[in-house]
Amino acid sequence: MHDIVILGGGSGGYACALRASQLGLSVVLIEQDKLGGTCLHRGCIPTKALLHAAEVADTAREGEHIGVHSTFNGIDMTKVNEYKDGVIGRLYKGLQGLVKSRDITYVEGSGKLVAPNAVEVNGQRYEGKNIVLATGSFARSIPGLEISGRIMTSDQALLMDYVPQSAIILGGGVIGVEFASVWKSFGVDVTIIEGLPTLVPAEDAAVSKAMERAYRKRGINFKTGVRFQSASQDDKSVTITLESGETVSADLLLVAVGRGPRTENLGYEDQGISMDRGFVLANERLATNVPGVFAVGDIVPGFQLAHRGFQQGMFVAEEIAGLAPATIDELGIPRVTYSEPEIASIGLTEAQAKEKYGDVEAYEYNLGGNGKSQILGTTGFIKLIRKKSDGIVVGVHMIGARVGELIGEAQLVYNWEGTAEDLAPLVHAHPTQNEAMGEAFMALAGKPLHAHA
Ligand SMILES: Cc1cc2nc3c(=O)[nH]c(=O)nc-3n(C[C@H](O)[C@H](O)[C@H](O)COP(=O)(O)OP(=O)(O)OC[C@H]3O[C@@H](n4cnc5c(N)ncnc54)[C@H](O)[C@@H]3O)c2cc1C
Repeated sequence: MHDIVILGGGSGGYACALRASQLGLSVVLIEQDKLGGTCLHRGCIPTKALLHAAEVADTAREGEHIGVHSTFNGIDMTKVNEYKDGVIGRLYKGLQGLVKSRDITYVEGSGKLVAPNAVEVNGQRYEGKNIVLATGSFARSIPGLEISGRIMTSDQALLMDYVPQSAIILGGGVIGVEFASVWKSFGVDVTIIEGLPTLVPAEDAAVSKAMERAYRKRGINFKTGVRFQSASQDDKSVTITLESGETVSADLLLVAVGRGPRTENLGYEDQGISMDRGFVLANERLATNVPGVFAVGDIVPGFQLAHRGFQQGMFVAEEIAGLAPATIDELGIPRVTYSEPEIASIGLTEAQAKEKYGDVEAYEYNLGGNGKSQILGTTGFIKLIRKKSDGIVVGVHMIGARVGELIGEAQLVYNWEGTAEDLAPLVHAHPTQNEAMGEAFMALAGKPLHAHA
């Protein structure tokens, strides 16, 4: 009998295995495909490699504006893919080495929960005092919309060996706007279709609005508040019809309408685990209703993010080891959208903060006043939201080139329940974009430097 049997070797599962082995627990890690899961092979890493290639393309295009002779002569997808796959390959090798170096029993194969304390793989039973479910998620489609040919999800889009002339993206959330950003930089005519009233609808309203402005400026087409009805394809193009009767045609259709939990036929329900629409229900200590069975990552309702999976995986390992770790505040998990411009946020939006606390105050520091942002030629802002009662910062929302790199300080402020007065005395290096964060806190503390009061 092992201490822990983990089903799924993605961000959540492998983080749990690594931490548990560090703590001296005996661990079985079961993976049917590649160690590293969605994030490493079909998610975070490949998309960010494409986004970096896109940034380089934009830099080549824009060089002339700042006196650097450069021209954009097109994209060689074979080479872009080689670069992307090289990054994945090196990280994959490193991760495999890490798992091998620990005392972890790594099992290749498709597992099924056959008892509350046992998983079966290839006819062999692995028993654990604790079981961790970490089977992740898959790209969803819309009922009746079959993924084939020119209609694809991010899985197929990441394997494309050509740059299309035009693309429709169904869904203006994180994955949709990231692909739109890449493809636009690669020279594709992009149209995003979003059913909700704005792009990136989960973000603070000011950020969504700024994102729409930025995309309009980049020439990325989008239609919001419109409902998809149907799609048809032939050997030349794909055409979608909206509920209004309007049609849009392009070379391909990327379906980016969210990700569903991968939990079907894995024995979860049979073993009495409480589920909701395919998601595994877990309490704040990530325990399911069945004693000894935990769940981490995308199968647990909440933000579907790799670092949430890492944190939850490590939490469960520590919980099982009896370390009683502090629970994870879901809102304290940083969210970054790596498009151009980038979006980064933590905590509550202004609307959510108003609803929760009533009296809140928001301050927006415009990146126009920040030296480094001017040098980079980016616009955007850092928006801070604090409670009026005690000044605690309950939300930070940013948009602009590279602002994802600024989320570190924002997450400290939020998670340490800091105030503008705590942050204002801290010195921020000049000229950095991080300085804009310092300026925002100074302004909120009533002593703006490079900002109007
Ligand atoms: C296009 C895209 C871009 C993304 N970009 C980002 C980003 O920039 N930042 C970020 O934080 N997140 C990003 N994500 C989300 C991130 O990839 C997920 O949140 C993360 O991978 C979830 O980890 P997980 O361990 O829950 O699941 P997964 O990574 O999906 O891993 C689950 C693993 O379980 C295995 N498995 C499933 N069933 C079984 C079984 N029966 N037996 C054995 N093994 C099984 C699977 O093969 C898989 O390897 C992105 C996702 C996508 C699709």
